[in-house]
Amino acid sequence: MLGIDNIFEVIFFAGFVIGSVIRKVYTFRCRGNKSVDKRKSVVDIILISAAGVGMALPLFYLFTPWLDFADYDLPGWLGCVGTVVFAMALFLLWRSHADLGRNWSAILQIRQEHSLITNGVYRYMRHPMYAAHLLWAIAQGLLLENWLAGWIFLVSFIPTYLVRAPKEEQMMLEHFGEEYREYISRTGRIIPNFPGKPRK
Ligand code: SAH
Repeated sequence: MLGIDNIFEVIFFAGFVIGSVIRKVYTFRCRGNKSVDKRKSVVDIILISAAGVGMALPLFYLFTPWLDFADYDLPGWLGCVGTVVFAMALFLLWRSHADLGRNWSAILQIRQEHSLITNGVYRYMRHPMYAAHLLWAIAQGLLLENWLAGWIFLVSFIPTYLVRAPKEEQMMLEHFGEEYREYISRTGRIIPNFPGKPRK
C-alpha cells in the first residue's frame, strides 16, 4: 500500500499523475479535429487495452493489498535509476505531445487537418511517444517492488509497439508519400538519430 515510507512508490505515483495530466490536456486540445482515415482492428484494440491495463495496474498495487503476494525487494539504487528514467519518460511524453499537437490520436488515424511533423523531438526519431511509453514501463519496473505491477506494462507494451509502429509507418507512407520516405531516411524509430541528417 502507498505510504510515505516508500519514497519510490511516492515518486511513481507523482509521475503517474503528471503523465495523466499531460495526456488529458493534449487530448482536450485535439478535440474537433475529425478523422479522415481510421485504421482500427480488433488486434489493435486488444493490444491498446492490454497496455492500458499494464499502465493502470500499479494503482491497484498502490491502493489495495491485492497484489502484495507478488512483492519482492530491489536494491535502492535501482529506484534512483528508475526515478531518472521516469523523468526522461515524462519529458519525452510532454515534448512529443507538444510537437505533435492536434495530429495526435490514441488509435491509428489521419485527421482532417493532418500535417507531417518533423521538428522538435520528431526531428531525431519517428516514435518519441512510444519511446516515452517504453521508458515509463522500465521506470515502473524499477520503482515498484512487485513483479506483477512493476513489469506488466513493459510486457504488454512491447507487442503493442511491435505491431503498431510498422502499421503506422505504412499509413503515413500512404498519406505523405515521398515526404515520409525521406523523413524515415534521416530518423531513428525510437533511438534518436542525431543530428537528424540523412543516413548514408
Ligand atoms: N508514433 C508517434 C505518434 C504516436 S500517436 C510517436 O510515438 O511519437 C499516433 C498518431 O500520430 C497516428 O495516428 C499518426 O496519425 C500520428 N503521427 C505519427 N507520426 C506523425 C508525424 N511525424 N506527424 C504527424 N502525425 C504523426
